[in-house]
Parts: sequence; structure tokens; C-alpha cells
Amino acid sequence: MLLAEHGYQSPVLLGLDWLFHAFGTRASGLPPWPLATAKQVHSAIVLRAAGAGVQGTADGLISDTEGLLLGMKTADCFPVLIADPQHRAVAAVHAGWRGVAGGIVPAALHAMGQAFGSDAPDLHVAVGPGIGPCCFEVGPEVALQFGQEGRVHLDLGQEIARQLAICGVPETQVDTAHLCTFCDPGAFHSYRREGAAAGRMMSVIGIQAGK
Ligand SMILES: [Zn+2]
Repeated sequence: MLLAEHGYQSPVLLGLDWLFHAFGTRASGLPPWPLATAKQVHSAIVLRAAGAGVQGTADGLISDTEGLLLGMKTADCFPVLIADPQHRAVAAVHAGWRGVAGGIVPAALHAMGQAFGSDAPDLHVAVGPGIGPCCFEVGPEVALQFGQEGRVHLDLGQEIARQLAICGVPETQVDTAHLCTFCDPGAFHSYRREGAAAGRMMSVIGIQAGK
């Protein structure tokens, strides 16, 4: 669902009543919770959030703290939000082609396993709006990172879903928004469309206090 107030909310996460999540758009706002963020560098580094503010250099944050939002900024890269209903834990991931090729999504699952005992079959994962295969043509050197040859239209959302399946997350618990940030200037910022001046959208996930 694409809503004015909070942006896109995914059906695989909306069913969890202890959770708040939202994928940012140009127009969306955030609830007034403490927000943990990271200095994002297209890495496969995942940190456990200790509280509000910048946690350090990372492209994934995990937490089991009530009332704390984890936030990741994107504009064409894919925001990925993860919830573990068994252990009441969450993760927010920034996944561009470098991060996906480097394994940021499996790294987040691994970090949740280490920190909270999370198992892949329990996880609910939402892949938010990002640049679609319609608009993401890449050269041979990037294509090679994904086992393809020549200039190709890369479907990063599908690649993320493929990695989740390999990790053991059930297909029925994965939702891919299929919303292209480049195709919809009214709703989304796009780095490829707008260049270095492009804005960023904040996607967030957190555990509601007292639920
Ligand atoms: Zn597109």
C-alpha cells in the first residue's frame, strides 16, 4: 500500500501488530520515535543499534529494543526491512548493487541469528521501492557480479529475493514492492534521474513499546 503519511507499507509486515514499518517516499513523514541510523557506504557491514543517532559505518542495523526506529536512506538502492516475530527483533538494510553483490542481505540475517537467535524460516522480509529492471541498465563489469554477461537490465529486487530464498526465508514471507524509483518522479527520489542533488528517502522499522 502506498500511503501519503508513511509511504509504502508491505503486506508481509502489516500483519505483525507489534511492529511499525514504512518505506519512505518524497512525501512521507516519520513517527516521533528515537531513530538509529548509520553512515552508509554500500558495504556488507551490519551493526546492532545501541540507541538513537548514527551507530557507525554500516549498511544494515539490527535491534530488539522497543520504541527505537532503525532507519536507512535510499534513492534507487533498495531498502530491505526484516522482522522476526519469534524473537521480536528487526533489521533495516540498504542494498544497492554493491551491497547485494557483497552479501549485505545474508549478512543481516546472520547478524540477527547471532544476536537474537533468529532463524531464516521465521523471518518476514519486505523489499521496498528501488530502481527497477526497466531503468537499471548496467555495464559488463557490474553484470558479471551477478553471473550475467554484457550490458543487461539488472533486477536487483529479484536478486535480493533469490538470496533470501537461498538463506531459507519462505517465499510466502517475502514481499517485493515492484515500485521503480526512476519511473515515478512524483512519489520517489531517484539518484539516476536527478543526479548528485537527488534527495533521499528514509525507510524505517521498529518495535512498538508495550505491545
Ligand atoms: Zn523504471
